[in-house]
Amino acid sequence: MKIIQVALPIPVYNPFNYKLPNNCSIIKQGCRVLVPFRKKIILGITITYHIKSKVNLKKIKRIKKILDKNPLFSKNLLSVLIWMSKYYHKPIGEILFYFLPLQFKKNILENIQIEKKWKITRKGIFFKPKKKISLNIYKALKLIKKIRVIHDYEFQEQNIHSKTILSLKKSNLIYEIYDNKIKNWMSKLRISKNRPKLNSEQINIIKKINSKNKFFPWLLAGITGSGKTEIYLNATEKILKIGRQVLILVPEINLIPQIKKMFVQRFNVPIDIFHSYLKEKKKLNVWIQTKIGNNAIIIGTRSALFTSFKDLGLIIVDEEHDSSYKQKERWCYHARDVAVVRAKKENIPIIMGSATPSIESILNAKVGKYFRVNLTKKTGKSKIAKSKIIDLSNQIVRNEMSIYLISRIEFHLKKNNQVMLFLNRRGYAPLIICYDCKSSKKCFRCSSFYTLHLEEKYLKCHYCESVILIPKQCSNCGSTNLNTIGFGTEKIEEIMRSIFPKIPITRIDKDTAKNFEKIEEKINKIHEGESRILIGTQMIAKGHHFPNVTLVALLNIDGALFSNDYRATEKLAQLYTQVSGRAGRGKDSGEVILQTCFPNHPFLRTLLRDGYYKFIEKSLKDRKEASLPPYSGQISIYSKCHSNKLAIDFLKKIKTFVERKKKENLLVLGPIPFTLLKKSGLFRWKLVFQHPSKTSLCNFFSKLLLNYRKYLNDKKIRWIIDVDPIED
Ligand code: ADP
Ligand code: ZN
Ligand code: ZN
Repeated sequence: MKIIQVALPIPVYNPFNYKLPNNCSIIKQGCRVLVPFRKKIILGITITYHIKSKVNLKKIKRIKKILDKNPLFSKNLLSVLIWMSKYYHKPIGEILFYFLPLQFKKNILENIQIEKKWKITRKGIFFKPKKKISLNIYKALKLIKKIRVIHDYEFQEQNIHSKTILSLKKSNLIYEIYDNKIKNWMSKLRISKNRPKLNSEQINIIKKINSKNKFFPWLLAGITGSGKTEIYLNATEKILKIGRQVLILVPEINLIPQIKKMFVQRFNVPIDIFHSYLKEKKKLNVWIQTKIGNNAIIIGTRSALFTSFKDLGLIIVDEEHDSSYKQKERWCYHARDVAVVRAKKENIPIIMGSATPSIESILNAKVGKYFRVNLTKKTGKSKIAKSKIIDLSNQIVRNEMSIYLISRIEFHLKKNNQVMLFLNRRGYAPLIICYDCKSSKKCFRCSSFYTLHLEEKYLKCHYCESVILIPKQCSNCGSTNLNTIGFGTEKIEEIMRSIFPKIPITRIDKDTAKNFEKIEEKINKIHEGESRILIGTQMIAKGHHFPNVTLVALLNIDGALFSNDYRATEKLAQLYTQVSGRAGRGKDSGEVILQTCFPNHPFLRTLLRDGYYKFIEKSLKDRKEASLPPYSGQISIYSKCHSNKLAIDFLKKIKTFVERKKKENLLVLGPIPFTLLKKSGLFRWKLVFQHPSKTSLCNFFSKLLLNYRKYLNDKKIRWIIDVDPIED
């Protein structure tokens, strides 16, 4: 008897057994099926097939209907997701349904349907209406004239309905193009000749990378501005020539436009982007086009890793060290690590690039798991920027900026260059305080203070995003003597406008760059030199290549110097190196200014004197001595609850249970409160498990979840498991 295992969207670790429908003898893995479950018919996804089950056959129900003839999840992708389920201790059904495009869940689309695509005819291009046409037709024509090829859903997004589209078709102004008629991109592949002459380091690395066709994890460690993208482009070229697809991951959406531009300029192939801001229909379309092989290149953020490809040939993970690759909401996984697993299952090379590789990857290269190649020289004429520390504690400081910094800004602006000011705090000021009773306004849902956002005219909590109106009086004593303390990017913008009223300024942070279009618009402004002073948070810190920026200033990083997380210094070293790498990427040499009240802090001294890699070597030594990751494995359990006590008790109970098991070398730390204890009304605590062997810890944890499962079903507590936690 053939039994099929089906994953259902419920929090149960093992898939469910079903019998094949009548008159059906085979079913593939990764297809959607309808199955009876607790008196309902629900959607499931087939996992394994043709297994003989030990269970009582009479009790097993039959699959009602098979929805897909061809699997939605390829075999390789499915095995990656199954690996994730085991490694991250997340039920496979939940994982599959998490990554399945919404449309596949909602409309129960049968088989893969492809959205209609339209192209403008010659008649359409030169169409001049003799009589008055309807506004809808006018709008539709204008749109398609602009973008030439358009999907049905793109019409719909502009409120243009199928009636209008049909009447355009009838008048021969547009025609439908069928995807199976789309010309194969491989046979038409053209590679732009407009490209830099590679230096010997680049040539050697490309030779090496292109010599491997099977799974091979490359760690591309190249200083900022050393031309890593050129390596990506050359490796991609080889893959496209054999007709295979390439996936490029970037940590944040704002890095997509720039890298996309580089690839569009080089190759004439279909390139699509994939990220969480895309509309569901668009997501589905990219998914389908990628699956049938119409896209050659996909550029996206971490979720792009879970698209089905027809024939994936290479994965590139840019800025591999970036913590944005880690998903922390709902459930936890690290996209860089999963990308390596995917490359392995697909048996293809993967290139992980960074100017500041993560401590884990550096160690992986040392022990031979990754293969490291280095770019040590800046490309073209650019040179490594000079850096200088400004001691804020003995300086005349005007408006949070040292006189020295202001004079340097002036100097660089006079030379017609651009200046970048980095501050990792958005808003106007992080604190509004009553000078009479010394109280300040706290978010009632979080253990944090409100940040003043002057432009938007409210106080905002940066943890739960709740807002209140800016008070005129102190809610505690009624005084009107309210003042702000500290500064954020919004205030920096105001200060800059007052000092340099004629200079155009662009600010990029979560408040000003709310969607993909806004981000793209701002980044273009900087590239085109329309903007001369750029102010931003970590959104501008990484990856960008703005050749005319010659001065970069880090206005205040002191908070990070005194964090109690052992990973904070690694992050700060990366941030510093990345931000300073934005300076002097063109022909003029660059300058970096770091303002701090602690110029003699040992961390800053090591980093500035010895550089990033020496700093990492030292950190590795420290971590080895303390048996901390990456020299040991860690898994955390987080509990969240409206009651502080219940959140703690939940973890205490687990701890007692585990300690009775007496596993050798297992450390159980906690319960430890989160740095920000209360967020969105929930108190948050964690229990950290640490063991010298990652594998053994993983197995222990699986068993624990199995044995302890009934205690975990506490309706009042939200809990989540974090494997290889990086911060809270
Ligand atoms: P990063 O290593 O920081 O990612 P990029 O890949 O952004 O650096 O490269 C910076 C600039 O240098 C790009 O404009 C790129 O076209 C250019 N470039 C790359 N290789 C060379 C080269 N060999 N000679 C001159 N310019 C180059
Ligand atoms: Zn007061
Ligand atoms: Zn809040």
